[in-house]
Amino acid sequence: MQCPRCDGQGAIQVVRVHATGTKLQICDECDATWPYGETPSIETFQDFRTFMESQGLQGLWTELKVISSESED
Ligand SMILES: [Zn+2]
Repeated sequence: MQCPRCDGQGAIQVVRVHATGTKLQICDECDATWPYGETPSIETFQDFRTFMESQGLQGLWTELKVISSESED
């Protein structure tokens, strides 16, 4: 799936946050995030770092485990 925020520059990955077990969707280019299962939209993205800091985390990709990628094209 292509990212609506950066207009197809990035691919949206499904990841799990190690510390909390929360699944997210995140763009590997611009770090826009969406809740898992939600259709990514420019109106609803949240900045990755903002989201992670709200959980008491730093907002690093090392805090994530990539579960799937749909960017194989
Ligand atoms: Zn993006």
